[in-house]
Amino acid sequence: MIDALPPLRDVIRTHDLRAKKSFGQNFLLDLNLTARIARAAGDLSAADVLEVGPGPGGLTRGLLATGARRVLAIEKDPRCLPALAEIAAACPGRLQVIEGDALQVDPLAHLTLPIKVVANLPYNVGTELLIRWMTPRDWPPFWQSLTLMFQREVADRIVARPGSKAYGRLALMVQWRAEARIVLHLPPEAFTPPPKVSSAVVHITRLEAPRYPADAATLERLVAAGFNQRRKMLRASLRGQHPDIERLLQGVGIPPTARAEEIDLERWCRLARAVVHGLEG
Ligand code: SAM
Repeated sequence: MIDALPPLRDVIRTHDLRAKKSFGQNFLLDLNLTARIARAAGDLSAADVLEVGPGPGGLTRGLLATGARRVLAIEKDPRCLPALAEIAAACPGRLQVIEGDALQVDPLAHLTLPIKVVANLPYNVGTELLIRWMTPRDWPPFWQSLTLMFQREVADRIVARPGSKAYGRLALMVQWRAEARIVLHLPPEAFTPPPKVSSAVVHITRLEAPRYPADAATLERLVAAGFNQRRKMLRASLRGQHPDIERLLQGVGIPPTARAEEIDLERWCRLARAVVHGLEG
């Protein structure tokens, strides 16, 4: 039984799991908190869960206790494997642990749809995986939802709205094909050892189709050009994107003097369509 497992502080002592900076380790040891994060992922009883970076297994326990059908946990630090094996033994057939780099493992080789992703990751790996999960070759992607811990500032960028300082490529990339909201804020002291910054859990649910039609590569190229020079007017920052960019901007209802951060998703998509197909009707 999962409730009979020892407290995480004892697990860390028994297996000598002192947090290592090189693995980006800041552990969550409060099982009430990890259960809350697991619940933020919604009903897991009919889903397989991909957990990246389980560490000593606090969140893993939360996922299993919340009723996840099956959990695949990918962990890079071999020191954590004995602790994770104890959890697997307490839940026969429900937890599979792979030692490896999550950036290299194909989850579909091990899991059955529907799949939900839940993770408290090192911040650099988290952003890289988020971008990868948001930009698969085909949409919809393999996952139904992503419930991920980020540093607060990155979480704010994911859910940002037009006109705010945090609004940019990340917000547009995520919100074009998914619903994103912050479900939990965590202070540094929630972790052992505490990181320098605050954190937040973001819950992202995929849409079955993009919110507005657009070619993904064109949209990404325009948004990148616009926000790479976010202080500039769009007629200048997008000059290299189309020979007639000023007319296209006007045609889709974007003042050529506007800046990237003022433009909502719908108009970015309209512009992407105009760049590919010309102005509509
Ligand atoms: N999930 C645990 C928790 O909440 O206490 C640990 C969180 S800690 C911030 C991040 C974990 O990810 C560490 O256990 C670390 O070893 C692991 N990790 C780091 N890079 C990884 C990678 N590329 N693939 C898989 N795991 C990784």
